[in-house]
Order: sequence, then C-alpha cells, then structure tokens
Amino acid sequence: MTATHVPGLPVIEDGRLISTNPATGEEAGRVPVADEKAVLAAVERAREAALWWQGLGFAGRRTRMLRWRSLIVQRIEELAELTHRESGKPVTDGLIEATAAVEHLDWAARNAKRVLGPRRVRTRLLVAEHSGHLEYQPYGVVGVIGPWNYPIVTPVGPISGALAAGNAIVFKPSEYTPVVGQWLADSFAEVVPEHPVLQVVHGLGDVGGALCRSGVAKISFTGSTATAKKVMAACAENLVPVVLEAGGKDALIVDADADVEAAAEAAVWGAMTNAGQTCIGIERVYAVEPVYDRFVDAVVAKAGKLRTGEEIGPITMPKQLDIIRDHIEDALAKGGRAVLGGADAVQAPYVSPTVLVDVPEDSSEMREETFGPTLTITKVRDADEAVTKANDTPYGLGGSVFGKKNAIRIARRLRSGMVAVNGTLTFVGMGNLPFGGVGESGFGRIHGDDGLREFARAKAITVRRGPSLLPAMTFERTPAQVKQIVKALRLLYGRKP
Ligand code: NAD
Repeated sequence: MTATHVPGLPVIEDGRLISTNPATGEEAGRVPVADEKAVLAAVERAREAALWWQGLGFAGRRTRMLRWRSLIVQRIEELAELTHRESGKPVTDGLIEATAAVEHLDWAARNAKRVLGPRRVRTRLLVAEHSGHLEYQPYGVVGVIGPWNYPIVTPVGPISGALAAGNAIVFKPSEYTPVVGQWLADSFAEVVPEHPVLQVVHGLGDVGGALCRSGVAKISFTGSTATAKKVMAACAENLVPVVLEAGGKDALIVDADADVEAAAEAAVWGAMTNAGQTCIGIERVYAVEPVYDRFVDAVVAKAGKLRTGEEIGPITMPKQLDIIRDHIEDALAKGGRAVLGGADAVQAPYVSPTVLVDVPEDSSEMREETFGPTLTITKVRDADEAVTKANDTPYGLGGSVFGKKNAIRIARRLRSGMVAVNGTLTFVGMGNLPFGGVGESGFGRIHGDDGLREFARAKAITVRRGPSLLPAMTFERTPAQVKQIVKALRLLYGRKP
C-alpha cells in the first residue's frame, strides 16, 4: 500500500479490491471486482445451481449445511483472526460473532422442513369436498447484500434461511470486508463442490445495485437506512421483493426495581462491543430517577476500564469517525455533559468510551445512528416517560429493559422488532427468534420460522376428494343449491357473536 492510502479504506487497483486493516493499514487481502456482466453471469450460474440444490430436498440440504456449520466451527479461530485482520475488531469479538452465525446455520438447517415442508390444512365449509395443502417453495436465486460491521453473522443469518429454503445465493459483501465474505463462499464450496450454490461478487455500491437489477428473485439487504431506500427503489423496477435490515438507535430502559449493577454491565457491553458499531447496539439509556445516579456511576466505572486497542477496536469505516465526532460535539454544544470521554474521544482510528448525560433530545447524538462507543444516559420520571422517549425515533430495531415487576410489559410497548429483558443484544443469539425492525430500521425478518418463510413463497394447493354436495364454484349449480348454501351460511355464521 502507498502512503496516500487511508488505512481501512477500500481501494480498487487493476480490477482488484484491496482490503486493509483500519488500525494498521496492512493488507488483509485482495479480490476481483465484478462488473455488471460478471454479476449477470453469476446469477445465471446460480439459476442452475438452485435447481440442483432444490432437488437435494430438505434432508440433503440439511446435511450439507450442517457440514458447513462444522467446518466453520473447526476453523473458527482462523475466521476470527481473518475478521480481526480485515475489520480491526478484537479476535474475541470475531469468535463470539462466529458463534452466533453457527447457531443460525444449525437452526435453519434443522428446522426448514418443519416450517416450510408440505402440510395439509383443515378443510373449510365452502369447498368441503376439497382438501387443502400448503408448502413453501424457494424463490430460486436470492441476492444477499451485506454490511461490514458483523461480516460473518449478518450475511450468514439470511444465507442460512435462504439456503435451507432451497435457494442459491449471490452474495455481495461490503467493500470493507470482502475477504471475510470470500472466506464464507470458499468454505461453503468445500462442502458443496458440485454447483456454485453460494457465490460471491465484489465491489462498491454499484455492484450491489447491479445485483438488485440482475434478475434475482429476492434481495436480502443489511446496511444503512439510506442505502436500504436505494436498494428498494432499484428492486421496485422489476418488483423484486426485499427484506431490509437497516440501522437503529436502540434504547435501554432502567426501571426502579432493576438490578443496577447488571443493567450497567449490560449497557456498557451493548453500547461498546465492536466499538459501538452494532446495528442493535445500545445508544441511549433512559433510567428512572431513583436509580439514575447509581446507574451513571456504575456505567462510568465499568466503561472507564475499557481500553482502545484492546477491548475497543478501531472504527472500521474511516469516515464514521467524523460522524461520531460531530455527534459528541453537537451533544456538548447543546448542553450535554461528558462523564467519561467526550470532546477528545476521537483519536483516529480509535474512539475511547464516551458517556454523555443531560443531552437534549433534539441533538444528533440522540436522533441519528452514531455507530461508535458512545452512550447517552437520560434521567426520566418513570417507565412511561422512558417508553415515550425511547419510541420517539424513526428507527425501531431492538432495545432492552432492566427491571422486575413490569419489565416484560415495558418490553412489549417498545416500538421495535426485538427487546432483551435483563440483557442486551441476546435475541440475536437465538436461532429460533425472528430478527428485524420497524420504521426506518426496515422490514421483513431473518432468523426463526419467519426468517425461513422470508425466503420462500407460500404455495396453496386444493385437491378434490369427492363430489360437491353444495357446489358453489361452478356454473352448473342450481338455484336451489345456491339457496341451500346461503341457508347453511346463515346457520353457521349468521348469529351475532
Ligand atoms: P451501507 O448501507 O453503506 O452498505 C451496505 C451494503 O450495501 C454494502 O455492501 C454496500 O456496498 C452496498 N451498497 C451501497 N450502495 C448500494 C446501492 N446503491 N445499491 C445496492 N447496494 C449498495 O452500510 P454499511 O456501512 O456497510 O453498514 C452499516 C449499517 O448497517 C448501519 O446503519 C447498521 O445499523 C446497519 N446494519 C443493520 C443490521 C440489521 O440487521 N438491521 C445489521 C448490521 C448492520
């Protein structure tokens, strides 16, 4: 790399994307950049691969997916080390991230048949002579577009659901973490060498755009809200359905009967893990008045022990440093106070843990995704005020509640797709729970039963099992039969409930 290269910033040279470590600038690897023609060719190959993969059936796919799972587990250190080299995140963070990916792969492989397989449904009166059947069929080729912040688990989540459902995949990893994306596709090819069921295409946003327009049957996008809107617009051109996993501004509520120490520990982890570059990261805390002081002290004590370059890795995307600095400065300018870190926290490529209090609700630190190791703590009267303030954002991804008596009731009232009670981010570790947002955080779900159905189309079939006693759906019915149908309807459904 030359001296003019900014560490971590992807560079394209001679048709190759060069990926570097954001802390050291060391090269993590280089991959070929795809043009539109290459994307179309990958999708074309994937169409054939999809037919073969679908033909393996649930059992055949399950075996292959479980083999891939085991291979990832066997090489988990290698994968975590590579993720560290490329994104800068601590190796232990990479290990934990890979653990979650393994969970989703395992769960999707084992549960696809139950969720998507053919089943009979109960017959209904109007067509009592027909049996009803339901199954979920794969789309064919699914395009997966991924971000850099969790380069293992964010693609493996939708890839698991889409593979288990019987689709082939063309995956466009983030230009900041292409080497990890390539590793995933290469390791999959070791257990599925016959056909290119999981391919990877590399490049900047235009390659993602080309994938949206390539004829894929569905797009699973994970990334920022701004890009999600572009992806949806591109997909709209051909009515390609999308699942959008976008940004967030997640809140944690500390109620009066919370275990304050546990809440502080979880808040610090939820806010600072992966240097705060977490879509479901905790960015705001609303703590009720009786526990507020104790909570702030505990958070400062715990976050103050974290060291940049150790637990807190570098900011992976260099331009995010400016956003984090702007948010902190805006919060301080508007009357907020830093009780840890603050104005000088940003020392490229690192940001030291920053805890802000008294930050006005209209500052960018409270309204926009910061994506750094910063946390605001706001004192509120009671849980009602906490819920109102937590929900006062266009985003709605995850969230957290600490408390006892009312914690679950509060969790239900948070406008978000997921909430962890007495924990943070924990829902992402359960393969059987759906994951996704509301509002500007996107729509659709990955993981769990819903995440499997996201990658398949419901197919309804009726089968005649005898002659029609009350034929409704034919021109050959008689007026008397129609009268009987109406009479039966009155008898069954006419009474007021
Ligand atoms: P990003 O939107 O910049 O990029 C995401 C991907 O989209 C990249 O692969 C990029 O190359 C591609 N892309 C860019 N322009 C495109 C276009 N016009 N058409 C198609 N693809 C295009 O996001 P990022 O910076 O990589 O990731 C960080 C963001 O992702 C944060 O906002 C974070 O909250 C969000 N995120 C969400 C989830 C979730 O599950 N909801 C998970 C992780 C990250």
